Amino acid sequence: MYCQHCGQEVREEAVVCIHCGCAINVANQSPKEEDKEDKLLAEVSFMIPIVGLIIYCTNIDEKPIMAKHCGKFALYGFIVAVVLLLFVAFLPLII
Ligand SMILES: [Zn+2]
Repeated sequence: MYCQHCGQEVREEAVVCIHCGCAINVANQSPKEEDKEDKLLAEVSFMIPIVGLIIYCTNIDEKPIMAKHCGKFALYGFIVAVVLLLFVAFLPLII
């Protein structure tokens, strides 16, 4: 692969360019970890919104599609939790 700073060829496993000394952004060049909507993580985010929020904050730079997907479900989960909480809280008043 090639250094994105100086354009010189560097070894595949290199972390720092031997020509210019700049850090090599592995996330940009290796297609191993693809950025896609993750169903399991979305479900976890929905069940436990705070986990979704953490996933969103820690992955927004490297995997924006997955992070936004989890963030969206975390928001849905949060809204559902608030509605349920209000329902339970006001249930004694209705009965
Ligand atoms: Zn370089």
